[in-house]
Amino acid sequence: MRREGDLFLFDCGEGTQRQMMQAGLGFSRPMSIMISHLHGDHVLGLPGLLQTMSSLVRDKPLDLYGPEGIEAYLASLRRTLGFGANFPVRVTELKPGQGVKRDGYAIETTNALHDVTCLAYAFVEEERPGRFHPQIVKRLGVPEGPLWKQLQMGNDVVVDGKTIHARQVIEKPRPGLKIVYAIDTRPTDPVKVLAKGADLLMHDGGFTDDRKDKAKEYLHSTGREAAKLAKSAGVRRLALVHISAVTRDDSILLKQARSVFRNTLVPRDLMVLSLKRSK
Ligand SMILES: [Zn+2]
Ligand SMILES: [Zn+2]
Repeated sequence: MRREGDLFLFDCGEGTQRQMMQAGLGFSRPMSIMISHLHGDHVLGLPGLLQTMSSLVRDKPLDLYGPEGIEAYLASLRRTLGFGANFPVRVTELKPGQGVKRDGYAIETTNALHDVTCLAYAFVEEERPGRFHPQIVKRLGVPEGPLWKQLQMGNDVVVDGKTIHARQVIEKPRPGLKIVYAIDTRPTDPVKVLAKGADLLMHDGGFTDDRKDKAKEYLHSTGREAAKLAKSAGVRRLALVHISAVTRDDSILLKQARSVFRNTLVPRDLMVLSLKRSK
């Protein structure tokens, strides 16, 4: 995910740095990586990526989030590969349900249902202040200066004995974007709660209906199950991820999911989705 010059990566499977090169993203931006769990297909790209970053002139920090154990994994890589001398790597271990607040956004987590501790993530932008309308302020007879500032801060002011309410001149706060990533999981209530109202939900959903039992057994989800969750969580768009290797034809998967939730897609490598904040 690219946001205002920063990169956010959900998991780091094998081949990640190669795809980053293909996508022309570069390795020098500030970057945060959110690791869901410590299974190979989600973390084996880290050694390569970190090694490449340390061979370049990188000074921007790298933030790494993950479940308990991610610190030990990183420490073992550091010991054996000796990377990271030229840029700071900040590791934050999160328990399911824990989150962090950062400048302009928050990262929230919940428990995904898998056979090891697995985090589902929500990236939640802060609300932005509503639009301020100077023409209206002028029309209401408020002299430019400190009183404007008060109104902009959301405080009511009194002019010639008349109260001017901030809500008369400022629109409601505008919600930021919410992006949710829940992989290697069964569809569960905690994930549904986390996904509520998301602009984009990336949900495990690589199994077709005929392999429903397998999805259950391996603690993954069918496309249809992911679609049901997306629908009940009121998300805007669903991307099915962790497509099973045996699902050669994803049109069936897509059809099954779309019969429940229309706005579903199966992302292709290097596909770009632009998410727009509501006005
Ligand atoms: Zn797994
Ligand atoms: Zn996996």
